[in-house]
Amino acid sequence: MFPPAGAMPEAATLFKEWSGYLKPEDVARVETAYHFSEAAHSGQFRASGDPYISHPLAVANILAELHLDSQALSAALLHDVMEDTEVTKTEISKKFGKPVADLVDGVSKLDRIEFETHEEAQAENFRKMLLAMARDVRVILIKLADRLHNMRTLGAVPVPKRKRIARETLDIYAPIANRLGLNGIYQELEDLGFLYLYPARNRVLSKALKSARGNRREVVGKVEEAINKRLKKEGIEALVHGREKHLYSIYRKMREKHLSFAKVHDVFGFRIIVKDVPSCYLVLGALHGLYKPIPGKFKDYIAIPKANGYQSLHTTLFGPFGSPIEIQIRTQEMHKIAEAGVASHWLYKSTDASLNELQKKTHQWLQSLLEIQSGTGDSTEFLEHLKVDLFPDAVYVFTPKGKILSLPRGATAVDFAYSVHTDIGNRCVAVKINDELMPLRTELKNGERVEIITASHAKPNPLWLNYVITAKARSHIRHFLKSVQSQESAQLGERLLNQALSVLRTGVAEIKEAQWEKLLKDTGAKSKADILADIGLGKRLSVVVARQLLSLGNAPGEERRNVGPVMIRGSEGMAVQFAQCCKPIPGDPIIGLISKGQGMIIHTHDCPVIVKTRADPGKVIDVEWAPETKKLFNVSIKLVVMNQRGVLAKVAAAISGADSNIDNVTVDPELGDQYATMHFTLQVFNRLHLAQIMRALRRLPEVIRITRVNN
Ligand code: MN
Repeated sequence: MFPPAGAMPEAATLFKEWSGYLKPEDVARVETAYHFSEAAHSGQFRASGDPYISHPLAVANILAELHLDSQALSAALLHDVMEDTEVTKTEISKKFGKPVADLVDGVSKLDRIEFETHEEAQAENFRKMLLAMARDVRVILIKLADRLHNMRTLGAVPVPKRKRIARETLDIYAPIANRLGLNGIYQELEDLGFLYLYPARNRVLSKALKSARGNRREVVGKVEEAINKRLKKEGIEALVHGREKHLYSIYRKMREKHLSFAKVHDVFGFRIIVKDVPSCYLVLGALHGLYKPIPGKFKDYIAIPKANGYQSLHTTLFGPFGSPIEIQIRTQEMHKIAEAGVASHWLYKSTDASLNELQKKTHQWLQSLLEIQSGTGDSTEFLEHLKVDLFPDAVYVFTPKGKILSLPRGATAVDFAYSVHTDIGNRCVAVKINDELMPLRTELKNGERVEIITASHAKPNPLWLNYVITAKARSHIRHFLKSVQSQESAQLGERLLNQALSVLRTGVAEIKEAQWEKLLKDTGAKSKADILADIGLGKRLSVVVARQLLSLGNAPGEERRNVGPVMIRGSEGMAVQFAQCCKPIPGDPIIGLISKGQGMIIHTHDCPVIVKTRADPGKVIDVEWAPETKKLFNVSIKLVVMNQRGVLAKVAAAISGADSNIDNVTVDPELGDQYATMHFTLQVFNRLHLAQIMRALRRLPEVIRITRVNN
């Protein structure tokens, strides 16, 4: 019941045919690839029983019919050797050059993608991913030719696999061919997919089509004649084509619109191509004079193009034999764009000015491909090595379950984590890309399988903001940091308030609920936590709030002098920051500066930055180091050393010998050949620790001078 695959011509016969458009040296190259592939596949057979080499040869021949170049034909002949034999990419590259090896590798990569899900949305993503992964259009063309030959020989394959491949062809490959404007391949893929997926429906429908065809041809001929006559009379130059629907498109229309075969098939389609836009409207007027238009069916896609850039006039007429006639009217230019799906997508997506050269070239290339298909164009010009990125703005990656996610180009593992789920983003600690552990900032590439590793206690890191690019990730990280900051600010605020209250001989614990209620009413604040966070962030003064709570008058000046210091532990989080200018460490005399909205910043007592603001007593808080600080603090030191080989290593060893980490180091040899200056940022626990380190460094004979840098 299925068509026989058809006897394949001998290889030698095909080479002769191909030499019709390829140069002799190119044919020779392709022949070498053929013999190499034949040897590699020797002993392997197709499901049909044919020697395996018959398949790559047929694939190459499909591409030769499109007049593809010798690299593409060689790659087509070799397209299965990497997957099915021992041959490596390096070997192909050595024998046939890198472009051919890249093509074979590209096709093999596409083969490795598994299509597990068949939901509609996923099919669309698969199609886009396939296109995105093949940066060279020839890879897609080889893949489509491969699929076409597999479909032509699908009858030999067992039924379950046959159905799966047919479904995949209809879902994935036929739409790609359609999009690329490869109409011949598109229709054959659909008809074969239909044949193998629904053999019974296919049989009924093709029988009906056959018996209706004779009558139909007659009608089409008569209508075409009438149209041509009328246009001639009006003096309009135009090409009129009768359009015949292929089997699967009839079936699809019946199913989608719930129509009978007669209803779908009885519609006659004509396309009329003219030289310019005014002619389009002239044709429309002439035809509406010839046959009556069906009301409500006229659409002007010239004035208002479709989103993908498609332009045409559509109208439906009452035909002479009782059947409707669908008419499309367009210019030559519009026709080309309508046929080159993907290319027209680019052309209209960006404005002409920003349309890059590559896209223009590819558009031309696809157009010339179309011309060759319709038998008019020149055969050699488009055989350039075109690298194109069909979807330049997006990357497509897999989740561990095989679902495809689309992310903007440049997205990192953290963006991926947030796009899966907010909780996954908030708790991610590491990522496995294609089963390999990678840093979270890793930029994702097409086709990668991404697995996020989470930990229940993990939290977003402010540093992620430096490399996430999706709005979702950014806003979730910001939101999280903000809520953490307000918690930490509230804790600091409570300590500041307690300190202010202690001067008034009470404490936060002794304040009654009623006192808080009254304060909230008086100030209009939302909650106690908000007030405490405001104090921590410097938006409210602790002394003022303390007096308000105790319903005392507003005279904080006096108490201020008696307020005891706030203890700084270094573990306050984002509410307390240590100034970058003077880098205070425990043991340094310090002072707190409340900066509105940022919380408290700790400076050293003698920091010049603080001298200016000191005059404003509302902003300055008396602080002291808590007896126990566990955090490591950054401190800067400057060393003048003898400029000798290995001196940096010696200094670094002394520093780590004193249990410190080096956060940053720069060396400048400005003192001439003999001395050099080194700047270190070190991590220390306190002044004592720093003193130990400096002592250890002084012991080195190469060290001339050490100073701590305070500004
Ligand atoms: Mn194959």
